Amino acid sequence: MPTTEWSNWTGNRSCVCDVVRPENLAELQAAVASAATGTRRVRPAGTGYSWTPLIPVPGDGTIVETAKLDRLLGVRTEVLGGVEHHYVKVEAGMKMSELIEITRSRGLTLRSPTLFPWPSIAGALSTGSHGVGRKGGCFADSLHSLDIVDATGSLRRVTRGDADFPAAMVALGSLGMIYAAELEVSPEFNVYVDKRNVPVDRTLAEFDDLIEAYDYLEMFWMPGAETFYLMLMDESGAHADEWSFRRKAEQWFDTTIQSRAANVWVPWIAQHAPGLTPVLTKLAGGTVTEVEKEIVPASDAFHFQKAYSKNWDIAYSIPATHAAEAWSRAIDLVNDYAEAGAYPINYALHGRFVGPGEGWIAPNHDRYSLYIEATTAIGTPGFQGFFDELESRWAGIPGARPHWGKHFGRTTGLDTLYPRMADFLAVRQAWDPGRHFLNPWLEHDVFDL
Ligand SMILES: Cc1cc2nc3c(=O)[nH]c(=O)nc-3n(C[C@H](O)[C@H](O)[C@H](O)COP(=O)(O)OP(=O)(O)OC[C@H]3O[C@@H](n4cnc5c(N)ncnc54)[C@H](O)[C@@H]3O)c2cc1C
Repeated sequence: MPTTEWSNWTGNRSCVCDVVRPENLAELQAAVASAATGTRRVRPAGTGYSWTPLIPVPGDGTIVETAKLDRLLGVRTEVLGGVEHHYVKVEAGMKMSELIEITRSRGLTLRSPTLFPWPSIAGALSTGSHGVGRKGGCFADSLHSLDIVDATGSLRRVTRGDADFPAAMVALGSLGMIYAAELEVSPEFNVYVDKRNVPVDRTLAEFDDLIEAYDYLEMFWMPGAETFYLMLMDESGAHADEWSFRRKAEQWFDTTIQSRAANVWVPWIAQHAPGLTPVLTKLAGGTVTEVEKEIVPASDAFHFQKAYSKNWDIAYSIPATHAAEAWSRAIDLVNDYAEAGAYPINYALHGRFVGPGEGWIAPNHDRYSLYIEATTAIGTPGFQGFFDELESRWAGIPGARPHWGKHFGRTTGLDTLYPRMADFLAVRQAWDPGRHFLNPWLEHDVFDL
């Protein structure tokens, strides 16, 4: 009888099953082959940061964690048509923060890494996780090849250009267990970052121009605010600003305050004095400089957030052409709740624009997208009802697709959101005819099999 209780980071998904942590490729192959027998299920797990039921298995199943598969396997440069291409290959369980440091120390930078520094590389790839950027897509769009252990324990390589590649890029761990990923990375470049508060009405009225004007566009709105906090970013040939002692001290102070606010003050206010939420929001807004400009290396520009706390997060990918509508629907809903004295959102609404993706079931598949999310502290009363309403508003926008790793409630019609879903499922079936790499949620709610 299995006795190990597995649970994700937030603690909202758990199961009791066998949990194994192979330390090298041979152990991984043996673990998968011995677990994938009869009708037993096997689910790959990274760091367990996803809110959705991607990982839990029935009691006779096995979760294979990649925590001990975190090595750098190689860095290489290839010249194609006179242009240098840089690649880095790592094991599946390496954390994003470590890969960022590996590339940075070699004068390279990742394409569309998550803002969040701690997911595993395979976890971020498999859910279509993303950073920001109009020219690139999600993180998986930088993939060159994947080494995947299938249900028989055999190692198979899928490379860009192979017929199965668009299925394997973002596959929710349903084809097999990724052992290693090779990613194309860019030479480090500098980014001109212009941060400013701009009235909501003006931003939405000028939205079509705004979303075409910048290489990288990220935006925040906090409950009760009359302005968006915009981060307007473009590649720059200029030198990066020097980091003065004062600036480092300011960042340390901001991080300490942010962390304290996110972990202690906001959850306390949410539970004991929710009416103070807009006051806190105003205070947070007041600490932000009206307009701030800087030139920073890309590896820093997209990793400005240093403090994280456990939270609830719902996110949708919306076609960029409907971005203003997605923002209006969300802000109107938060304002309606506020008028009734309820504050189910106390962190922020956050949006990032991401270029079209190639993965057949990547939420940014085939179109420029706004990824918009609502985040709120753990313990906030009434967040679930609010998320349900928000989801129905966002899901009603043509082309809306949930982020696979973040909270969403939709259980039907998910397969209809992707024009290449049938192709994806055909590849999946060929890789795993025994359905070992599916759990009941994937099988029924997501893939409708
Ligand atoms: C605080 C916070 C901030 C976040 N910020 C961002 C963000 O900036 N951008 C964004 O897009 N997302 C963000 N996310 C979501 C996060 O990137 C995804 O949930 C991601 O999948 C987490 O990685 P993980 O290693 O924890 O994966 P897990 O949650 O462990 O697994 C996710 C999926 O990947 C599969 N998987 C994991 N390892 C393998 C493997 N070796 N082979 C095959 N499949 C595998 C699993 O089976 C599962 O389907 C954030 C999450 C949190 C908690």
